[in-house]
Amino acid sequence: MTVHIPFDNTYAALPEGFYARQKPTAVSTPALIAFNEDLAKVLGVTHDDLADLAQVFSGNALPDGSAPIAQLYSGHQFGQYNPQLGDGRAILLGEVVGSDGQRRDIQLKGSGQTPFSRMGDGRAWLGPVLREYVVSEAMHALGVPTTRALAAVSTGDPVLRETPLPGAVLTRVAQSHIRVGTFQVFAARRDLDRLRTLYAYTVERHYPNAENPHDLLDEVIQKQAKLIAKWMSVGFIHGVMNTDNCTLSGETIDYGPCAFMDAYDPETVFSSIDRYGRYAYIRQPDIIVWNMAQLATALVPLTDNPEASVERYTEQVHGMPVLIRAEYERLFTAKIGISNVQTGDVPMVTDLLSRMHENSADFTNTFRALMTGKARDQFTDPMAFDQWAEGWQARIANEPDPQALMRQTNPAIIPRNHRVEEMIASAVDGDYAPFHRLNAALANPFEDNAEYADLTRAPLPDERVLATFC
Ligand code: AMP
Ligand code: MG
Ligand code: MG
Repeated sequence: MTVHIPFDNTYAALPEGFYARQKPTAVSTPALIAFNEDLAKVLGVTHDDLADLAQVFSGNALPDGSAPIAQLYSGHQFGQYNPQLGDGRAILLGEVVGSDGQRRDIQLKGSGQTPFSRMGDGRAWLGPVLREYVVSEAMHALGVPTTRALAAVSTGDPVLRETPLPGAVLTRVAQSHIRVGTFQVFAARRDLDRLRTLYAYTVERHYPNAENPHDLLDEVIQKQAKLIAKWMSVGFIHGVMNTDNCTLSGETIDYGPCAFMDAYDPETVFSSIDRYGRYAYIRQPDIIVWNMAQLATALVPLTDNPEASVERYTEQVHGMPVLIRAEYERLFTAKIGISNVQTGDVPMVTDLLSRMHENSADFTNTFRALMTGKARDQFTDPMAFDQWAEGWQARIANEPDPQALMRQTNPAIIPRNHRVEEMIASAVDGDYAPFHRLNAALANPFEDNAEYADLTRAPLPDERVLATFC
C-alpha cells in the first residue's frame, strides 16, 4: 500500500450518536478513472502506484489512519421533514489539514450500505459520479465555493436502477459535511447534549469568532447569501436544495440533478424529481432563506431565553433577502462591466435579462459576447439587444476598465448539460476521452480557447436536455 493520507480525524472522535462506524464494502474490479493531482497535493495525499489509488478510492483498502464513519443527519426534503436521513451511501474516511491550513473531509460516495441506507443499495452509478466530478471541479474553477472531487473509480459491479448500469465511487472533499440537517436531527429529538456538542464543534471548525448561536447564524447566512448569488451569476441550478444538502461551511454540496441554464429563463427547472419547480433557478434565493429559517429553528434550544432568541433569529432570517439581493446586484452589474454601481444600473441589468428571456438568448454566451460586441447575435430579434446597448454603451464609457471586469466575471465555458450527458453516454460505452476533455476545458473558464469552441456552443433544439436524473 503506497497511498499515504495524513489523517487527523476530529468528527470520528465525537462521542457516540453522531455517526455509525462503518467500513466501505469491497467492489470486484476497481479501476481508476480520474485522480485530481492538484487537489491531492494540497491535501498531502501521496502515492507511488496508481493501482493502489483504485484500491483506496473504491473502498477496497483502508489507508492507515482512517476512521471510517457514516454521519447522521435529517432534513427537509421538498419541504417535508424526514426525521432520519444520514449517509446512506457515503463513508467519511477521515479529515486532513491541507498545506493551506484548511481542514477537509475525505469521503467516499457510492461505497456501499450503511445503517442509514434505508431502502437504498448504497451505490452510485457512473453517470452521477462523473457529473459530480466535472461539475464540482468546474464550479471551483468558476470561483464558486464547492466541495471538490479527488477521485473517480469504476467498480466493475453493475448498479441496478431502471436497468443495470456500471457502478462507480466518487471521492468527495469538503470543508466539512455538517449540514443544516445535522443540527435539525438533534433539535428535533430534543437531544440538547448533542446539539450543544455539535454547535461547539461547528464553531471551532468553521466560525471560531462566533461567540453565540446568533453569531453562528449570522456567519452562515452571510456565506450562503454570497453562495446563492454566485450560483445565480453563473446560471447554476442546484435542483435539490433540501436542508440536508445545505452546508454550514457555505460550500455547494450534492451534485444530483443539477444543471446550468442555457437560454435565459428564470423558471428553468431540470430535475426530474422537482415536479412543482420548488427549486427553479429564480426560486433559489427564497429557498435558501427558508433553509436558514430551519437552521435558526434548530439553534433556538441552545439559548437560555428562547423567546428572545426567536425574535432575534427571525430578524436575521428576514434580513437575508436584502443580503442576497445586494450580492446579486453587485455580481450582475459587474457582468455588464460596471464596478461602481449607480442609480439606474440595476434596472439596466433587469432590462437586459427580460430582453434575453423574450429572445431566448443564451445566458452564458450573451454575457461573454458583451465584450466583443457580438451579443446581439444571441437574440432572436437583435434589435432588442441594440436598443438596450445604446444606453449601456454610454454608461460604461465612464467605467475604468469594463472589458477586464467582464472578462473575469463572464465565463466563456460552463459544463453544458448536453455535453455532460454526451460525456456520460461515452463513458458508459467505455470511452472516457470526452470526460477528460471536459475537465481540461473547464479548468480555465475565463479564457477563450478555440480548441473548445464546440463545448461553448449552446445546444441546438434537438440537443437540448430538458430533464436531469440523479
Ligand atoms: P440526496 O437526495 O442525494 O441528498 O440523498 C438523500 C438521502 O438518500 C441521503 O440520506 C442519501 O444518503 C440517501 N441515498 C441516496 N441514494 C442512495 C442509495 N443509492 N443508497 C442508499 N442511500 C441513498
Ligand atoms: Mg444529499
Ligand atoms: Mg445526492
